[in-house]
Amino acid sequence: MPEGHTLRRLADDLNAAFAGRTVRVSSPQGRFEADAEQVDGSRLLGADSAGKHLFVELDGERFVHVHLGLIGSFDVHAGVEEVPDPVGQVRLRLVTAEPGDPRGTSYADLRGAILCDLVGPARRAEILGRLGPDPLRPDADPDLAWRRISRSHRSIGDLLMDQKVLAGVGNVYRAEVLFRHRIHPRRPGNTLRISQWRAIWADLVELMGEGVRSGRIDTVRPEHTPEAMGRPARQDDHGGEVYVYRRTSMPCLLCGSAVRTAVLAGRNIFWCPHCQPTFRSRAVGSSHREPGRSGGAGA
Ligand SMILES: [Zn+2]
Repeated sequence: MPEGHTLRRLADDLNAAFAGRTVRVSSPQGRFEADAEQVDGSRLLGADSAGKHLFVELDGERFVHVHLGLIGSFDVHAGVEEVPDPVGQVRLRLVTAEPGDPRGTSYADLRGAILCDLVGPARRAEILGRLGPDPLRPDADPDLAWRRISRSHRSIGDLLMDQKVLAGVGNVYRAEVLFRHRIHPRRPGNTLRISQWRAIWADLVELMGEGVRSGRIDTVRPEHTPEAMGRPARQDDHGGEVYVYRRTSMPCLLCGSAVRTAVLAGRNIFWCPHCQPTFRSRAVGSSHREPGRSGGAGA
C-alpha cells in the first residue's frame, strides 16, 4: 500500500502539471461520471495530501477526494504532445483544456482506487478531523498522537498503523522506525517515554521527507548502506535500503540475528529479536528500564 510520502509526491506532481489550469474531468470507466460532469471545465486550484488521503481542489470549493487503497494508482503525465485513449479501468481522467498553452498538455489517469468522490469543504474537514498528525505536514502536532499512544495498552506497532493516531505511516515505515529506535513492536504504547516518542516522530519527519524527495523508502544509516558495508544492494519491488522490512530470516545488519516476522494489526511486522528485545514492564510504581541495553546510565 502506498505510504504517506507517495501521496505527497503525487500531490506535488499534480500541482506541477495542473495547478491554476482549466481541466476537462471525465470518467472513462463510468463510476465517477456524475461527479465528473459537475466539475468538468473548472479551474484546478491545487492538490494536497493528508496521510494516505489526496484532495484535488477545483474552484467553487469542490474537492476530488481520493484514497488509493492497496492497488490504486494515479499516473500523471505533463507536457505531452498528444493524450492517448484511456487504457484499462480509468475511474477519473484529468486533461488540461488550453490548446496552444506553452506548458503543453497534461493528463492524469486514476485506476484501482478504493475511493474517488466529490466532496465539499465540510466533508473534507470531517475526513481531516479523523486523522492523526501527518509527519509530512509542517502544521502537524505530534502531541496529539502522544496523547493517544501514552494512554493506550495497544502495542506501538499497532498504534503506528492506526491512521487516527498517526496519518501516513504504513507497514514499511512502522517496522523501520521501531528498529531504528530499538523498540519491540509489541511493546504497549503506555510504556513508552515521551522522549522516545519525540525521537520516533523526528525520525519519521526526516525519513518520510527523504521518501518524498527520492520516491523510495531508505531507512538505513550511512554506515549501513551497501557501499559502507560491502554487501549487495537490496533486490525488492519496493526498492530502498531497509533494516528489517521483508527481510524475514535474513541476518540483522547490526547484530547478525535472524530477522523475525509475525502478523500485527493485520499486516506483517518485522523486527530483530536482539536489537528490539521484548519489553517487560516492572512493578507498578517503579521506573521503566530499557531491557537489553548495556551500560548503567539511567538504570
Ligand atoms: Zn539486530
